Amino acid sequence: MPAPDLDGVYISERGEGRITVTHEGYLWSNSSQNRFKRAVTILRRLQRNTWRCDWCFEDLQTWRRADARYCCEGCRKRAARQRRFWRG
Ligand SMILES: [Zn+2]
Repeated sequence: MPAPDLDGVYISERGEGRITVTHEGYLWSNSSQNRFKRAVTILRRLQRNTWRCDWCFEDLQTWRRADARYCCEGCRKRAARQRRFWRG
């Protein structure tokens, strides 16, 4: 399995809660627009503090989908199991 790559999106913290998302689209110009939108989505989620796993509250990796809700398959499954539990 290949190591997850950053998909051209880099997120860096510059102190005082300021976060910068850097987007590199020069290699894949066809998808650069999508990558830019993705970077903006991730940045907005970071600003709202929702760029984290709904289950364990770990920060999500930048290679996750911009609409990802869980950090890993395990958390997604645990959350789904608990939803079933509460629903009875
Ligand atoms: Zn998690």
